[in-house]
Amino acid sequence: MTDSTREPSIFSRIIAREIPATIVYETETLLAFEDIAPQAPVHVLVVPKTERYANVVELSAGDPALLAEMVAAASRIAAERADGEFRLIFNTGGSAGQTVFHVHAHVLAGSPLEEGTLAH
Ligand code: AMP
Repeated sequence: MTDSTREPSIFSRIIAREIPATIVYETETLLAFEDIAPQAPVHVLVVPKTERYANVVELSAGDPALLAEMVAAASRIAAERADGEFRLIFNTGGSAGQTVFHVHAHVLAGSPLEEGTLAH
């Protein structure tokens, strides 16, 4: 949930164009950009512009339509940048490898995808 005293997340700073990223897709509600440390031929992060939801569990409870928009964006990105097939990963919690607590989906595509990618 939003805490107005908290520093903006690194993703909010990318959304605000305060720090650079290679942006591949944008809507009113979402921004998608290349991961800085790619783990597949296509590795794009899809991020809601709101920082209200820390992870996919909060998002699915609070705004399921926005989660559906993220899935649609992932599909579109995989179709544009690979063969349309993709892996969609939401790390949820630190012990699952989540490092940025502003919900985001990793879109991995481009064959062959290796098993275990993003399993940190
Ligand atoms: P997670 O570990 O699931 O929280 O994913 C965070 C992801 O953000 C990692 O894959 C990082 O490589 C990526 N990341 C961190 N900083 C940046 C940045 N400035 N631009 C693009 N991707 C970033």
